[in-house]
Amino acid sequence: MKRLAVLGHPVAHSRSPAMQNAALEELGLAGEWAYEAIDVAPDELERRVRAMPGEGFVGANVTVPHKGAALALADTLSETAREIGAANTLSFAAGEIRAENTDAQGLLDALPESPRGKRALVLGAGGAARAVVWALVREGAAVDVWNRTASRAQALCAELGGTPVETPEPRAYALIVNSTSAGLAGEDPFAELPLDRGDFGAGQVVVDLVYGDAPSSLLAAAETSGAAAVDGIEVLVRQGALSLAIWTGLEPPLGTMRAAARR
Ligand code: NAP
Repeated sequence: MKRLAVLGHPVAHSRSPAMQNAALEELGLAGEWAYEAIDVAPDELERRVRAMPGEGFVGANVTVPHKGAALALADTLSETAREIGAANTLSFAAGEIRAENTDAQGLLDALPESPRGKRALVLGAGGAARAVVWALVREGAAVDVWNRTASRAQALCAELGGTPVETPEPRAYALIVNSTSAGLAGEDPFAELPLDRGDFGAGQVVVDLVYGDAPSSLLAAAETSGAAAVDGIEVLVRQGALSLAIWTGLEPPLGTMRAAARR
């Protein structure tokens, strides 16, 4: 059996096992491969990861709060993971731990069109925002970054590119990406972010990385105004598909993964 896992803390509510096992089944690999969730406390991560190859694991996704630590314990890094400073995908082969980051390309793959040459507003300066800013800057967008704690936006832009802004004009942007946790605990994102319900319009793309069982109020307002809405589950599906392709070398069944992640 080739084993895969998502490592997080907490991780019980992760949709990755359902999504990845559905994909493995669709690919005819269900008897040979299996994907599970493993809750690992931060001080246990390195020991746990180093034991995995000996237990039949060939790879793992890494989620909050381990993405930085996963990078530090790897033997080889992709350029993307090194530059972002975080890994969400580990592969175990030939006695080595390789770390990669599929969050950045996953965000780009989830967009309905390329952001090249467009103005983009990224909200947030945490781990998720780092991958988003890196991806959009690399892709040739003009990226502004707003964060509740302005100094973190300044530090992020100094490292990865983009321009820190304190009072953005939302209508000026073709793309708005919420990569803060605002809304995650049920709070009103419009009370926490520099956005009003009427700030969206046709021709805009609005992405909310925060996801739950119902569409976020941010995306509901965007859609009502005629903007294109991309939710966090689509981004999750896209990054997971890229991880699966790294491990198996096969074309991921996106429709199956999407359906399982949304179930
Ligand atoms: P993180 O490193 O802890 O960063 C949290 C960010 O959110 C910081 O910029 C923080 O601002 C901001 N923030 C938190 N509460 C806020 C509030 N009430 N109002 C305004 N800003 C607030 O977390 P992360 O790893 O970047 O994750 C951020 C979100 O993205 C989470 O909801 C996570 O579930 C989601 N995510 C989704 C995907 C996906 O595939 N869909 C992937 C990764 C992450 P300060 O700096 O001011 O504290």
